[in-house]
Amino acid sequence: MGLLPSARVDARYAELADLRLASTLTDEDAREEAELDPFDRITCRTHRRWLHQCVSSPHHAVPVSGHRWCRPCARPLDAAVDELAGDVRFSCPRCGQTPDNRATRQLTRACRASIAAAADRWPDRDLCA
Ligand SMILES: [Zn+2]
Ligand SMILES: [Zn+2]
Repeated sequence: MGLLPSARVDARYAELADLRLASTLTDEDAREEAELDPFDRITCRTHRRWLHQCVSSPHHAVPVSGHRWCRPCARPLDAAVDELAGDVRFSCPRCGQTPDNRATRQLTRACRASIAAAADRWPDRDLCA
């Protein structure tokens, strides 16, 4: 594997085993201070993980913004992450719907990007069936 595009790692992520994750966290923290929308991040500052690895946590259900949230039912959406397919699905445990709104689309997009970025850690892994 070649050199990482940016191997700069903040001290608070220095002990993470996954250098690519640590580097991406560092990069997104810095960009978030400038212009990056926190909901466009593919890493999680709070959990220090790839987004899809902790999106099921209560911290990622945000009633104010509508992220991972069913407004009609006023409850968090369930997250189904399929790392092999590179996809994620959010649905409400009560009404069964996936909200058709900007927040849900944004979170879905960020999770797909997070799965793809994390999968690059294993360039030799054979994903072919
Ligand atoms: Zn998180
Ligand atoms: Zn619902």
